[in-house]
Amino acid sequence: MFTIVRKEVLSPSVKLMEIEAPRIARRARAGQFLILRINERGERIPLTVADCDPERGTVTIVFMEIGKTTYALGRMNQGEALLDVVGPLGRPTEIERFGRVVCVAGGVGTAAVYPMCRAFQEAGNEVICIVGARTKELLFWEERLRSVVGELLITTDDGSYVRKGFVTDVLREVVERPEPPDRVVAVGPLPMMRAVCAVTREYGVKTIVSLNPIMLDGIGMCGACRVTVAGKTRMACVEGPEFDGHEVDFDELAQRLRRYQEQEREALARFQAECDCQ
Ligand SMILES: Cc1cc2nc3c(=O)[nH]c(=O)nc-3n(C[C@H](O)[C@H](O)[C@H](O)COP(=O)(O)OP(=O)(O)OC[C@H]3O[C@@H](n4cnc5c(N)ncnc54)[C@H](O)[C@@H]3O)c2cc1C
Repeated sequence: MFTIVRKEVLSPSVKLMEIEAPRIARRARAGQFLILRINERGERIPLTVADCDPERGTVTIVFMEIGKTTYALGRMNQGEALLDVVGPLGRPTEIERFGRVVCVAGGVGTAAVYPMCRAFQEAGNEVICIVGARTKELLFWEERLRSVVGELLITTDDGSYVRKGFVTDVLREVVERPEPPDRVVAVGPLPMMRAVCAVTREYGVKTIVSLNPIMLDGIGMCGACRVTVAGKTRMACVEGPEFDGHEVDFDELAQRLRRYQEQEREALARFQAECDCQ
């Protein structure tokens, strides 16, 4: 069993859990994810490994309550256990000494960007991190990120903290500096990653995005996570989740993510109704 050894509420809809999973904790690298199931009747959901502690034998996940399973997970507490956790899955982030690397995070993507920033910095890069959130109370891990980057730039859509605007406004200024970045990595909601790519394409800066298609088996067999990259079908679970953002067919991915919206809404409503009955 995979016991939850710590739970923390990072913002009203974002929770952190540290889970006992010694084998994953020993092997996980930046950019990789795990797939978990809460119980026998639960669906499998992919979540990024936000941190791991090989000595304690634990992995940290940070998730946004968005639908039935993440909502149910958020109701679990320290001491309870998940039925199964599989990982680490996916290819790790390509970490090299590129020079100047900009990591852009939107919302819960902040958690995924943290191990990347740390790994880029350890590899000798100058790391600039741009974090955006809708509003101040949705921001988390500011100090943690600051400890692994050279420069941290924060934006909020409503201007409630630091600077008003979108991450792309700040990114544009950073790529226009006399010493532009050698690589950009973006993790966050699809529209944000697409907007980041639109900016960097103008300046010819290589940009990696971490895609979040619907994923089931995580081993390249079911095809649920297929995405089109450079005109070819790729399985995000085994060939990704990171791809060259300038080659991703974002329209197709957005359409595929919307495919089960009605069923997802119904499942959440049913689950919430059952919860309220207890
Ligand atoms: C590689 C990868 C890493 C991810 N890492 C994180 C993370 O660290 N934190 C986080 O909050 N979210 C992460 N996600 C997204 C997360 O998996 C979904 O939010 C979650 O599966 C939603 O399940 P649900 O039942 O709560 O919501 P649902 O109501 O089922 O769906 C809500 C939204 O999530 C999408 N979704 C549903 N099922 C899946 C699935 N099996 N796989 C992917 N997306 C799905 C739907 O298209 C919809 O947009 C990641 C996704 C991928 C592919």
